[in-house]
Amino acid sequence: MSSIKSLLNRRRFLQFSLFASTVGLSWACAENRVQSQQKKVLIIGAGIAGLAAARELQQNGFQVTVLEGRDRIGGRIYSDRSLGFPVDLGASWIHGITDNPIGNLAREWNIAIKPTDFDNILLYGSNGKLISDRDIDSSYEIYEKIIDRAESLAENSEKDLSLAAAIQQSLTSQTLTPQQTQLVQWWMNSELIIDRGADLENLSAWWFDEGESFDGDDYIFPQGYDQIINGLAKNIDIQRQQKVMEINTSNSGGSVTTDRGNFTADVAIVTLPLGVLKSGNIKFDPPLPAQKQAAINRLNMGVLNKVVLKFPQKFWPEDYHGFGYLSEGEADFGEFLNWSLYSEKPALMAFTGGSFARQISQLSEEEIIDRIMRILRQNYGDRIPEPESAIVTRWNQDPFAFGSYSYIPVGGDSSDRDLLAEPVNQRLFFAGEATSRDYPSTVHGAYLSGIREAKRLINSNM
Ligand SMILES: Cc1cc2nc3c(=O)[nH]c(=O)nc-3n(C[C@H](O)[C@H](O)[C@H](O)COP(=O)(O)OP(=O)(O)OC[C@H]3O[C@@H](n4cnc5c(N)ncnc54)[C@H](O)[C@@H]3O)c2cc1C
Repeated sequence: MSSIKSLLNRRRFLQFSLFASTVGLSWACAENRVQSQQKKVLIIGAGIAGLAAARELQQNGFQVTVLEGRDRIGGRIYSDRSLGFPVDLGASWIHGITDNPIGNLAREWNIAIKPTDFDNILLYGSNGKLISDRDIDSSYEIYEKIIDRAESLAENSEKDLSLAAAIQQSLTSQTLTPQQTQLVQWWMNSELIIDRGADLENLSAWWFDEGESFDGDDYIFPQGYDQIINGLAKNIDIQRQQKVMEINTSNSGGSVTTDRGNFTADVAIVTLPLGVLKSGNIKFDPPLPAQKQAAINRLNMGVLNKVVLKFPQKFWPEDYHGFGYLSEGEADFGEFLNWSLYSEKPALMAFTGGSFARQISQLSEEEIIDRIMRILRQNYGDRIPEPESAIVTRWNQDPFAFGSYSYIPVGGDSSDRDLLAEPVNQRLFFAGEATSRDYPSTVHGAYLSGIREAKRLINSNM
């Protein structure tokens, strides 16, 4: 590309000039950029991957602009304060504090964090009675054995199979009481379906346990995860409400068309969520390489949704970190976090995952709250108060995410994440949680993927 104009048709160029002058942007022409040796990078998406890449590149002398479709930054990190206190509707935890880069940022920036003690929970049977610690512990041991056996069955299988099928085979020699069955199902819901955002029928038995993890406890940001986002975003040029629709690249640069204008650069880093890439809403010209597109098609987006309920006062045992409710038969709301331990406000956070989360997201807020209140009344009595206010997330319906995080279904492979991460023509780079082979589906994985692509660009002889 000898000049920016050659990438734009005249109409687009006029549109862009108009837009640039309205918002006071000044875009150097390509020749000037080359002279100034300052490479211009467009980063698509102001989630943690995009902001991590932006910060790293800007610190290394690149000229960076981030294009964000929403009217806020942070993406799947979203701290809401409409209930009168901060609560995270997207990511909540730093998973594994030891050497975790997000924990390091929190320490560097003096941001308060608080651990969650997942052993400190109460579990209630479907009759509303508390389950003893002994029964909880022994059911967890049974759960672990079942999963270990399912994993080794899968390892010895020549073909991948669903985790549900592998568990089914591993269960054949096991006789469980009805309560043990319910408890094991509760663990599977909590540790697998909610954690991966997908049903056992959809998870690959070969890959459900992919990736690495950091040691140590999981920590919450009582004052909001967005403190990390705001720290990373400092002094970065971020253009909000720029919904990217088309990404064009050539051997010498590229242009990005949003619903409000056109932007050009030497390179772009795409941090769009897998769900957005799968939707086909973004046009790539030239189209993405067949292998990358096939990886996008094979990987899947899971769903974890939350319901936050604020009550006039606490009616649950105060010192426990979480509460579990076993259900008979049909899936139901079974896992709650005691938010009052983090904000000192009387609030609970309920979690749903997989197809149950998708099903629930079709209901009205009123219907969802009714359903939760039925469970809470069963366990704490009819006299408990109604919530004063509530927030229901529907990440699966969010057009800027189409889900919560990625997982590998049967037929997928963790090398799909590498294919997704592969740059195209040294002009288009890819970051985001789904591109992280080591730490998929996490904040730290997304963050490290942004740094990875920034370094790739810094080290390239572009
Ligand atoms: C409910 C929930 C709970 C979670 N819990 C945890 C947790 O406790 N711990 C943890 O480590 N991880 C958790 N995660 C996962 C974690 O939030 C993500 O892995 C991480 O935030 C992804 O960052 P990212 O930068 O890859 O993507 P995103 O944060 O999604 O950033 C992508 C950005 O692109 C923007 N975008 C999308 N489409 C367009 C478009 N067309 N044009 C322009 N911009 C666009 C989006 O608005 C977004 O800002 C959770 C996620 C959810 C949803």
